[in-house]
Amino acid sequence: MTVDEQTSTPQHSFSDGGLKRLLIDGRLVDATSGRTFESLNPATGELLAHVSEGDATDIDLAVAAARRAFDDGRWSQMKPFDRQTILSRFADLVDERHDEIARLDTLDMGMPLTRTMGNRRRAVGMMRFYAGLTTALRGDTIENSIPGDYLTYTLKEPVGVVGAIIPWNNPHIAFIWKVGAALAAGCTVVLKPAEEASLTALLLGELLLEAGVPDGVVNVVPGVGEIAGAALASHLDVDKIAFTGSTSTGQAILRASAGNLKRVTLELGGKSPNIVFADADLDQAVPGAALAAFGNSGQVCSAGTRLFVERSIYEDFMHRVAEFAQGLNVGNGLSDGVQLGPVVSKTQLDRVVKYFDIGRDEGATVLVGGERLVAGELSKGYFVAPTIFTDVRDDMRVASEEIFGPVVSAIVFDDAEDLVRRANATSFGLGSGVWTQNVAKAHRFAKAIRAGSVWVNCYNLMDPAVPFGGYKMSGYGREGGLEQLDEFLETKAVWIKTS
Ligand code: ADP
Repeated sequence: MTVDEQTSTPQHSFSDGGLKRLLIDGRLVDATSGRTFESLNPATGELLAHVSEGDATDIDLAVAAARRAFDDGRWSQMKPFDRQTILSRFADLVDERHDEIARLDTLDMGMPLTRTMGNRRRAVGMMRFYAGLTTALRGDTIENSIPGDYLTYTLKEPVGVVGAIIPWNNPHIAFIWKVGAALAAGCTVVLKPAEEASLTALLLGELLLEAGVPDGVVNVVPGVGEIAGAALASHLDVDKIAFTGSTSTGQAILRASAGNLKRVTLELGGKSPNIVFADADLDQAVPGAALAAFGNSGQVCSAGTRLFVERSIYEDFMHRVAEFAQGLNVGNGLSDGVQLGPVVSKTQLDRVVKYFDIGRDEGATVLVGGERLVAGELSKGYFVAPTIFTDVRDDMRVASEEIFGPVVSAIVFDDAEDLVRRANATSFGLGSGVWTQNVAKAHRFAKAIRAGSVWVNCYNLMDPAVPFGGYKMSGYGREGGLEQLDEFLETKAVWIKTS
């Protein structure tokens, strides 16, 4: 069965202020409670849609549908070629409909259209990568030393029903990143999008059905994190949670998962060091350092927010980064030429503005920014000036806590050896950057930094074939690469007496 035709048409608009409903077992349904919440445009405050608000009962229904779909093998037992064909068709649909998908994310969470549109290659490429992986699943045959004749081999099997919980900072990419890998492995999915940005998840859920993914294989249940998300994390019939979000929520999910010891992968926060040596190509490092911190208004878990700059270039370099920051065009992401949109919500705005006070109180200097932007049209939305703190010490809160806004803390350094210790003196370990033209130094730092990604003379590049994930409290498990596929598979050892 495809999407319930009585209640929806395939081309309905996702931003018309109408009701967007849960996708459970191939049908669009109201929340059992009848409750809805509002989805607002953070650039204008206008209403985009009412969204059905799933709770524990709806999560139960969705998990039951995903369980049936997993247990009867409608997806996991389908021949890899056929799953590949369906997932490739989905990739084609994402390609065809990408303008609409991108626009919807821009409306829903504010990221400028240039950036959401720029995600086309990545979104489609990821889906093609995952489609390819459906035919790449394999176990091993293993020589054993047991007396007698025994054949031993491993089978790779899908882990089962996956609960995917995603954030709002790059919604359609986050959806594909989790659902694509889970489907490639043969799992079924219940996905809970972030309450701030549920719309593309619902659209992509429909496109999966249109591509031919059987009913119940992917279910999308918007709702509040502490209610619907928590119900998914603690559900005894869910075999794995794949989560991206804040570190404190990751900890809550881990605790909630204990009931059935479900598998958990966590992609959490960061306070990533971005190190600029005096021997760097500064024409590249200036925009590189600025965009590493300010891109997507700083709402990137791997943002380079601790900017270490060598003393001999510090003054000049920071002056240039400040100039670059002031030249960034902040505005409604739908407008031409806008480079930075609003932050996602009033809550996020308040949080970022609070850190302006915290930084000042701690003795840091605001080089540029440090305020909400309210001129003209901007007053209706949640806009913040790209902000640079200088005179930052390692132990300040603005140098150690994740702010998740367009704020960078610049820290001066003299001694390259002690710098390794300082860069690693954080409970996080997600991203990092090194800017130098000295190849030996680049390799030395790439090895010494305790983080899941090190970008040298570049920042925040992502590719579906390259694993991404955290050390320490930035989480565990990897997304992207063959490593990610393994996160959705169990390994079974088979022993056969052959004589
Ligand atoms: P952020 O602070 O960036 O919004 P969160 O970690 O709060 O990050 O949110 C990421 C995702 O986790 C969202 O989909 C949110 O609804 C969900 N979430 C929040 N709290 C919980 C919870 N206690 N259990 C499960 N999911 C949650």
